[in-house]
Amino acid sequence: MEARIVTLPGDYIGPEITREAVKVLMRVAEKFGHSFTFKEYALGGASIDAYGVPLTEETLAACNSADAVLMGSVGGPKWDKVPADKRPEKGLLALRKGMQVYANLRPCRIHPQLAEACPLRPDIISEPIDIMILRELTGDIYFGRRSRSEDRTRATDEMAYSVAEVERLARIGFEMAKKRRGRLCSVDKANVLECSRLWRETVQRLSAEYPEVDVSYMYVDNAAMQLILHPGQFDVMITGNLFGDILSDESAAIAGSLGMMPSASLGDGTRGLYEPIHGSAPDIAGRDIANPLGTILSGALLLRHSLGLNEEAVAVETAVSRVLDDGFRTPDIYSEGCRKVGCTEMGTLVTERI
Ligand code: NAD
Repeated sequence: MEARIVTLPGDYIGPEITREAVKVLMRVAEKFGHSFTFKEYALGGASIDAYGVPLTEETLAACNSADAVLMGSVGGPKWDKVPADKRPEKGLLALRKGMQVYANLRPCRIHPQLAEACPLRPDIISEPIDIMILRELTGDIYFGRRSRSEDRTRATDEMAYSVAEVERLARIGFEMAKKRRGRLCSVDKANVLECSRLWRETVQRLSAEYPEVDVSYMYVDNAAMQLILHPGQFDVMITGNLFGDILSDESAAIAGSLGMMPSASLGDGTRGLYEPIHGSAPDIAGRDIANPLGTILSGALLLRHSLGLNEEAVAVETAVSRVLDDGFRTPDIYSEGCRKVGCTEMGTLVTERI
């Protein structure tokens, strides 16, 4: 197949890790007989330096007309004094909104080779942990009306969801569960919140269309607890913006290493923005020691969700697993007895195993 991929390396370690993910995708194209073309645009601080704004209209248009977008990370101390509305992170928020990507996907997988990095007891993670958290990204309390009383002693934030917003997110969750282990857990606070009752009713109604998916419902406080006590029970979890923000960070902590975690933000059709969950790590930039695996695994999600190339995605994930099996580690995931490698070498090692 032919695919046009926009890359947005961003700032600090962003270009280092993006370069390695592109290297891996180029190898996938070569091995499986595809033609991928990559076009690079500036985002965040890099865009501020070049054009005075964190996201240009040209970059957004390029992202909207590409088959998929792969991003590194944005921000850092160089732009800390820039006014709040023009900061690098604003570029990323504007990009997500401009691309209308409303479903944020965060896989939480504990690589058995890195089990030591997981803060949970070994008996709790003795069964495989492979959770897909799907967080609604463009609604909820983050986008509702806000107010502060005149005397500044009272504040309100409005939580709002429409059936259509819940439905489009839930459909992605059901489709994903069908392709995975067939289980979907919808997380809400329907015992208290009206928004959550609307959320649950909508998911319940949709579930009739997906008889092959086993659906369960969980209150968010219980879900937070169950993620720690029995994470192996979850397959796909769907939830709103606020609850998803918290639960997905909790799941990242369970997985143990920031540098390993990929993410995808999806919209209608095959549109998608793919990025590692970590930031631009200014403290280690320019030293070739950043872990590129989160970005490389984001590339695997890109292959699967935007290009429909599941076999190729599995090839990337398997290659990452084999590199870990062979004992190679960047400094952030290093433990005794392993071989320490840099960012470029890690990318090459994955490439060689495809
Ligand atoms: P960070 O994620 O950049 O770094 C936190 C710690 O994790 C640092 O010690 C860093 O060295 C380490 N780390 C992160 N990624 C790593 C990797 N791939 N390999 C090895 N170590 C890694 O978070 P921060 O320091 O709070 O933020 C730095 C900048 O990144 C800030 O400007 C912040 O706003 C921005 N940020 C951007 C995004 C994004 O682009 N999506 C996300 C979070 C933070």
